[in-house]
Amino acid sequence: MIYLDHAATTPTAPEVRAAMEPYYNIRYGNASTPYEFGKQSREAVEHARNTIAETLQVQPSEIYFTSGGTESDNWALKATMEAYSNYGRHLITTEIEHHAIGNTCEYLKKRGFEVTELPVDRDGRISLEQLEHAIRPDTILASIMCANNEIGTIQDMKAIGQILKRRGVLFHTDAVQAYGQIPIDLAGWNVHLLSASSHKFYGPKGCGFLYMKQGLRTESMIHGGAQESGRRAGTENVPGIVGMAKAAEISYARMEETAAREQYLRDRLIHYICTQIPGAYLVGSEKDRLPGNLNICFQGIEASNLVLLLDEEGICVSAGSACNSASAKPSHVLKAVGLSDAQAFACVRITLGRNTTAGELQHTLAVLKRLVKMLKKG
Ligand code: PLP
Repeated sequence: MIYLDHAATTPTAPEVRAAMEPYYNIRYGNASTPYEFGKQSREAVEHARNTIAETLQVQPSEIYFTSGGTESDNWALKATMEAYSNYGRHLITTEIEHHAIGNTCEYLKKRGFEVTELPVDRDGRISLEQLEHAIRPDTILASIMCANNEIGTIQDMKAIGQILKRRGVLFHTDAVQAYGQIPIDLAGWNVHLLSASSHKFYGPKGCGFLYMKQGLRTESMIHGGAQESGRRAGTENVPGIVGMAKAAEISYARMEETAAREQYLRDRLIHYICTQIPGAYLVGSEKDRLPGNLNICFQGIEASNLVLLLDEEGICVSAGSACNSASAKPSHVLKAVGLSDAQAFACVRITLGRNTTAGELQHTLAVLKRLVKMLKKG
């Protein structure tokens, strides 16, 4: 199998699995129990919190463990809007957010909050002027994703943060696709809340975290016991948390090297696809893009058919985002960057990972050439 869908999920790294193993079968104590056996689990959780905090240069007490990106996004938006609802009821976001943000905004609208969705240009970037213009006296929060999951576009986080800081608006970013892949400068970007998900950076599934800057007055997401400083109740997923921290450590240690390698392979693949397959072109930004992401429009074909045929050849890619691939509607991201329905349905997302080889991509190119020709004939 050739796996080219790393934006959907990544394999759990062997070092990560090894780090988790003892917390299933040897040190399985509940981290909230007072005896020595439980304390070992508590220490592992706090060590993991320190590791994650170090990657972002923040205080360990500002990291809250969750069940993944979706929960972190829900928590960030609902809790902040509720906690500051006496000051205002307006939230700014973008047209290209993941459904974890988009559908949370729909929920908030039903609760009487107002949401402005900023459009994006053909590259998938918001306009700083439009952001400035969208801010109202009652704007509490802006939730703007760091990097997009479908087209890989990276926003100008520093410039966005400067505007929000000057105008007194809290800044949340969904960094689920960015964390562990590209450098994150929380202080420089003036970010107050950040969501990340372990399975996107070679950690286990069902684990993530929310960074919440000290002093923010947010509500608890899950009510119950006193875990996570009383703000997110429930027995800690110790193996998951330990595995996520190990995955973060490895991703940060190898970030520069991995990004350079993926970017090199990606740019070659883009070049060969666009020069050797008639009607194929890159969607999104050429330069402000995640290192492993390419989204190609194969004009004149149905991407869902291409994905099925590639699957038969043992190659995993995605048509639209993972969460979109079951829906018959064109992706909201591809529509937002100006594609027609037909163009959006012709797009395939290929996302490389740290183990992707040049040989795998060569083979994929050859198969793509053959299949696209066949689908065009008919
Ligand atoms: N946000 C973005 C940008 C994503 O790509 C995803 C997953 O694809 C999520 C949020 C949801 O994360 P999780 O799968 O951990 O719930």
